[in-house]
Amino acid sequence: MNDYYIDLHIHTTASDGIYSIAEVLEGYYQKGFQAIAITDHDTVDAFKDFTSDFYKEMRVIKGTEVSCRYAGREVHILGYDIDYTNDKLVNLLNEIKNSRIIRAKKMIALLRENNIEIEYSDVQELVGSENIVGRPHIAQALLKKGIIKHQQQAFDKYIGDNCFAYVPKLDVSPKKVIDAIHEASGFAVIAHPHKSINLEDIHYFKKAGIDGIESYYYDHSPSQIKKLEAICKDMNLISTGGSDFHGYGKREDLGSYQGNIKIFTNINKHLKLKIEV
Ligand code: AMP
Ligand code: ZN
Ligand code: FE
Ligand code: FE
Repeated sequence: MNDYYIDLHIHTTASDGIYSIAEVLEGYYQKGFQAIAITDHDTVDAFKDFTSDFYKEMRVIKGTEVSCRYAGREVHILGYDIDYTNDKLVNLLNEIKNSRIIRAKKMIALLRENNIEIEYSDVQELVGSENIVGRPHIAQALLKKGIIKHQQQAFDKYIGDNCFAYVPKLDVSPKKVIDAIHEASGFAVIAHPHKSINLEDIHYFKKAGIDGIESYYYDHSPSQIKKLEAICKDMNLISTGGSDFHGYGKREDLGSYQGNIKIFTNINKHLKLKIEV
């Protein structure tokens, strides 16, 4: 039996997750997790509603997943154990947050040019006034209007990376993101490397100050994990892992990815407040 339940990659309604932080915490606690990290896209706003290091006995690590660009691709960098009130980090996140609104409006304009009748207010309604807007919200708005039959269709036909209504995010460098995470006394980890970087480019990230790689990701194969772990060992990087839980569907049900003792051991060396098991 796996006695080490840990998930270091979780989204809430502060970004594009379906569940609020309260629901996420209770859900993971009920499933028997000992440690989790909340990592919303480009925001730390979930911690307005939850500031503690623990939910009942479950350790809650403060994190974020920041978008940036390298070699023409979007890269996500996870920040862990951050001071979420740090000015430099908060300012960078606000800059990205504001640019996301402009980006979403551009995507809506492209959809409208192609006779897809959707307004920014349809999207705004789903996001709420404070939260981060993302493509999933546009997909949900299209679904709600009956323009598509399921959320995935929006990505396949309209707003996926190679589709006509896709608009890239603000061009932020990985170095800028890593520096902001370090400034906030956290450590920086490349999220789902297979989705966002060429593994040969890992040296660039190391030079830029990266601390770790998300080797264990819900859809990584055993051979991919093995290779990423070897890279971590070689380059003295932390090997972390998580499910990228959003709450959308079966493939990423809450608690379906349970982690393992290696993830515990790896992250525990770097946390200011260690996880006790
Ligand atoms: P954004 O940060 O606004 O670019 O939205 C990114 C989010 O959209 C990701 O975290 C996924 O949840 C979702 N997403 C991106 N590409 C796809 C895709 N091809 N199919 C389904 N969901 C996607
Ligand atoms: Zn997301
Ligand atoms: Fe991501
Ligand atoms: Fe994510």
